[in-house]
Amino acid sequence: MGKVYLTGAGPGDIDLLTVKALRVVREADVIIYDRLANPDILAEAKDGCEFIYVGKEDSHHTLPQEEINEVIYQAALKHDTVVRLKGGDPFVFGRGGEEGIYLYEREIRFEFIPGVTSAIAVPEYAGIPVTHRGITVSFRVVTGHESTNKNHSQIPWENYKTDDTIIFLMGLHRLKVITHKLMKIGKPRDYPIAVISRGTRPDEKTVVGTLEDIYEKAKDLPTPALIVVGKVVELRGQLSWFETN
Ligand code: SAH
Repeated sequence: MGKVYLTGAGPGDIDLLTVKALRVVREADVIIYDRLANPDILAEAKDGCEFIYVGKEDSHHTLPQEEINEVIYQAALKHDTVVRLKGGDPFVFGRGGEEGIYLYEREIRFEFIPGVTSAIAVPEYAGIPVTHRGITVSFRVVTGHESTNKNHSQIPWENYKTDDTIIFLMGLHRLKVITHKLMKIGKPRDYPIAVISRGTRPDEKTVVGTLEDIYEKAKDLPTPALIVVGKVVELRGQLSWFETN
């Protein structure tokens, strides 16, 4: 039986792959990868490496998670070195924990390789620091994709009244709901917000606005995209570098 490396691929820019991830990609007998993992990484694999695509378009999974778990398990029965390549970091809304538990229950050895998460790196490429002395002392990373039951939000909106930076992943399709909720709990209409589309890639695009106008400005941006809410967005005026280079 082989060993599975549950590996973070970073947010897009191939240079943000870790040295450790690159090492296991080069050793892999099989690589099981997502839509969010930069496919150029596969060019680093050795001759004869098998590639298995398991899809995942944002939250709309091509294969259900249970089937992905099984694909990884079956690969480990056949091969020595299995790399499960996942966008960003495996533990940040990446379901890496579920994949690890599935392997644990079947006595397959595994390692986690952390990746550069889009939650921090994508704002960074856009010139938005998730914390900044004197502006915010903490940040939250929240899923924008939650159960659609209107009476039963899993997100504790009332906790979001502070000036902490809030980063929503998987939230572009819910941008209108998110901005309305934030205004409803008392954030000003002109509170700063940014949407960053295809972060760290050559076609990265950031749109900055207010809770009131961002939906009209940003709703048609291509995915993947994330949302940053907070006063740190204003620092982009001085810190933008990637899109202006
Ligand atoms: N494990 C991943 C996140 C998976 S959830 C990580 O650590 O980055 C998928 C969401 O991540 C997308 O819906 C989007 O909100 C965000 N995302 C991932 N890559 C992105 C990118 N290059 N630009 C903008 N958002 C990105």
